[in-house]
Amino acid sequence: MRVLHVLSEYYPLIKTGGLADVGAALPQALRRRRVDARVVLPGYPQVIDELRSPQPLWSDANLFGGGGARILKGTFGTDPAPAYVLDQPGHFAREGNPYLDANGEDYEDNDRRFAALCWAGAMLCNGADPQFAPQIAHGHDWQAGLLPAYLTLHFDRAIPSVQTIHNVHYAGAFDMSSAGHLSLPAEALQMEGVEFYGRISFLKAGLHYASHITTVSPTYAQELTSPEYGAGFDGLLRSRRDALTGILNGVDYEHWSPARDPALVCSYDARRFSGKARCRAALCERLGVDGDPAVPVVGVVSRLIWQKGIDVLLDAAAPLLREGAMRLVMLGDGDAALAASAARLAEELPTRMAFVRGYDESLAHQIQAGCDGLAVPSRFEPCGLTQLYALRYGTVPFVRRTGGLADSVTDLSEAGEGEKEATGFTFEELEPSTLRATFERGIALFSDRKAWRRLQRAGMRSDFGWGRSAREYAALYRTLAPSRRSRPARPNLGAASRRSG
Ligand code: ADP
Repeated sequence: MRVLHVLSEYYPLIKTGGLADVGAALPQALRRRRVDARVVLPGYPQVIDELRSPQPLWSDANLFGGGGARILKGTFGTDPAPAYVLDQPGHFAREGNPYLDANGEDYEDNDRRFAALCWAGAMLCNGADPQFAPQIAHGHDWQAGLLPAYLTLHFDRAIPSVQTIHNVHYAGAFDMSSAGHLSLPAEALQMEGVEFYGRISFLKAGLHYASHITTVSPTYAQELTSPEYGAGFDGLLRSRRDALTGILNGVDYEHWSPARDPALVCSYDARRFSGKARCRAALCERLGVDGDPAVPVVGVVSRLIWQKGIDVLLDAAAPLLREGAMRLVMLGDGDAALAASAARLAEELPTRMAFVRGYDESLAHQIQAGCDGLAVPSRFEPCGLTQLYALRYGTVPFVRRTGGLADSVTDLSEAGEGEKEATGFTFEELEPSTLRATFERGIALFSDRKAWRRLQRAGMRSDFGWGRSAREYAALYRTLAPSRRSRPARPNLGAASRRSG
């Protein structure tokens, strides 16, 4: 099986969010399953610098108005797998954030920049590398949304395509007037095409033209078909329900395992568990929190944004902190008002709550190891990673039953259904009273050491590695790819020549 991934981020070269982790980890995990998975990335300076043994494959004198462009083939780091880069300085030789200028504004040519990436992907799917004929084109988020459209609209025999939604709230929407620059024929500029509320949306293009759509958890896949979660795409996703699958993202256990985590004062695992108590004591001491072993310490590691339900969390936790029934340790940054609320509560109760504002990778690891529980009360959560880390660190998650949180944490009340073992606490309604009641259930169970240890052990045993995700993607590819080895289709050069300018 040969698959080309088209995406705009790749850890560790260029990262603004979880997409970068997926971009690096998923193709690697697929290769371990004998899927020849390769990526094509925009040629940002840090990507070009790291590309080893670059070999030019295909070129265009003025691709989507960004000047000369070449597809380069090479490798990254110690990974022997071939990778492709669209080298086009006019579009990508810009330092800093891949989407925003120095003032934090979207680049005004983002439509052409990512159209160019999609075109490069389409070229690679149609013979640009004579040694690699992809059977599936797999694009991620809006930046790759035009890939399925180009394959469908410009090539006689398009290979099947997959569009993955990592975040439905980024539609990649542009004025209809940009259509003329994007090589989108008139037939595509309608509701049964790329049109989205009077504009062009790259994500809409992907969702309309892709053979199959995936998102990053089964529950989020269902939720996206409702107006509450679908961000305007719910109607389309309802109509394509049969072509929509949720596959949970994986965790990189190389970086997130308490048995070999350099950020911790002491390592531990499910069998040698005493190290967790030392991590707990070290965390409480570092943050000045009273580490009474009888009172659970609950952690939060999160961007401070509306999505994450931090406002409700603070309301729910405040009375419990005042009563001395729990401790709270919070790391995060983002919304100034949320940060101020957290700081006020921590100031009022300095030995019962610590708030560290900022981004601190090593403290994030120490919180995962040193806390008894981890709270993730999100309003929506496509997949969520922190609850997956918590499970591996024997830290019991308290999560809202939504998206990937619902798919990865099993409440005590659900235990025994099928094969499921309880691993944490879940709740439905995002109200302070509901979350408070959930914390109270946790506090009560915490005093039953044996029952608590059972939850911890079950969580530590659960496997959310990339191997499982890759297996599900590989199975999906097999249902989509033509059974016999297909020859690359001939590029439609008429269409290609319309692109420039
Ligand atoms: P999202 O991608 O919506 O922020 P996820 O749970 O999928 O939520 O991923 C969040 C990632 O960012 C996790 O790896 C988490 O540890 C990390 N993170 C979030 N905030 C911080 C912070 N303030 N310091 C360190 N790491 C953080």
